[in-house]
Amino acid sequence: MSVDCPNLKTCIFFQDKMKNMPATANLMKNRYCLGDNSQCARFIVSKALGKENVPSDLFPNQYERAMKLIGK
Ligand code: SF4
Repeated sequence: MSVDCPNLKTCIFFQDKMKNMPATANLMKNRYCLGDNSQCARFIVSKALGKENVPSDLFPNQYERAMKLIGK
């Protein structure tokens, strides 16, 4: 089942506001933003540390970086 991420409206990745948006951005949006946000690095950090603490250059597929950021 797919569920839209609650952060769609404010997320700079979904809003194409990040520098160096990857060519695969649309695939990532389908996979994470409109699919399973529980695996998204940005969502994981925003949930654990707050939206204001999500690095502006963190991409959804950087799961390991997210784990380090939240100390796991
Ligand atoms: S990049 Fe992550 S946090 Fe942002 S809208 Fe997509 S799933 Fe949500």
